[in-house]
Amino acid sequence: MAIPLLDLQAQFETIRSDVLSAVMEVAERQKFILGEPVSRLEGAVAQLSGTRFGVGCASGTDALLLSLKVLDLRPGDEVITTPFTFFASAGAIVNAGGRPVFVDIDPQTFNLDVRQLEEAITSRTRAVMPVHLFGQIAAMEQILPIAERQGLAVVEDAAQAIGARRNIGGKWRVAGGMGTTGGFSFFPSKNLGGWGDGGMIVTADEQLAGRLRRLRTHGGAKMYVHEEVGTNSRLDAIQAAILLAKLPHLERWAAARRANACAYSREFQDKDGVVPPTTDKNNEHVFNQYTVRAASRDQLKERLTERGIGSAVYYPRPLHLQPCFADLGYTKGRFPVSERAAEDVLSLPVYPELRAEQRDTVISVIQEFYR
Ligand SMILES: *Cc1c(COP(=O)(O)O)cnc(C)c1O
Repeated sequence: MAIPLLDLQAQFETIRSDVLSAVMEVAERQKFILGEPVSRLEGAVAQLSGTRFGVGCASGTDALLLSLKVLDLRPGDEVITTPFTFFASAGAIVNAGGRPVFVDIDPQTFNLDVRQLEEAITSRTRAVMPVHLFGQIAAMEQILPIAERQGLAVVEDAAQAIGARRNIGGKWRVAGGMGTTGGFSFFPSKNLGGWGDGGMIVTADEQLAGRLRRLRTHGGAKMYVHEEVGTNSRLDAIQAAILLAKLPHLERWAAARRANACAYSREFQDKDGVVPPTTDKNNEHVFNQYTVRAASRDQLKERLTERGIGSAVYYPRPLHLQPCFADLGYTKGRFPVSERAAEDVLSLPVYPELRAEQRDTVISVIQEFYR
């Protein structure tokens, strides 16, 4: 019995007729770029995130890139993020003309360590990009006031955290809806995944939303009149239709992911070899990944592979040690918590359709490994 890290086939079986009829509707209309399904999805995702405007775009990477483009960075302008994230977070900063400045992560949550944020701010800092890694929100109640005091924009990398919530002062705030902008990814492996690439920016700022809309269509609100130089980063109608068909299930899927995570963590609690992930008490985690710290991680991963169980290392090399960022001047040892995490994290199957007996198999293979 093979247990993949993610089983999109199993998900498709549960929603087949709804998604196929949504695709057929687009086929019948033959209108493929932006249009009604995209506007509807933009409204729905903005609402879900507790904010006002959604701007669909071509990928999560572009959601971050466009969010940074509207800051009009000048050479040398700095954007602070963590080195323990998917490459796109820092890649977008460089492509927007900025310079990534890294701050280490909190060892419990894998999110930006706020205690180190303030000392990383310089006169060139323009924005902070917290990453809500694996599906739990960073300490926004501390990040937002620091940013406000220092006049910095906040670009939430919410690619892994759509629908995640955090209790801030007794109110539930939602991933993506707290910063100046928030970026989502609809890459197939994300909690709300399309049949290809896709992304969205959300914001409460109407003017910003307007500018982002222009930027995704070559900088022009009207055809052939370009206020500025933008790019082609539109969301396809067919992706939006698929995502709209999936959206009503998102909350239930997140709850199923949490239930799987909870079942794993009960078992791993007292085991020496694996340390289960920590959910900050203020967070409602959506577990895009269930990521443990594992002793002899690579050997455990090999064992899981031998037994037909999918797992993955997110992420094996922190961004400050990537060859393309050598000129930023960071060396090994600079961000020990991120470097340590890169050595011992392992993500296990946590997808909503994972059956209890499959979960038990994963648990027993791991327990047997450490025995
Ligand atoms: C997936 C992801 C992105 C990029 O999204 P794409 O849609 O793949 O471009 C950015 N940041 C994080 C943290 C991600 O997980």
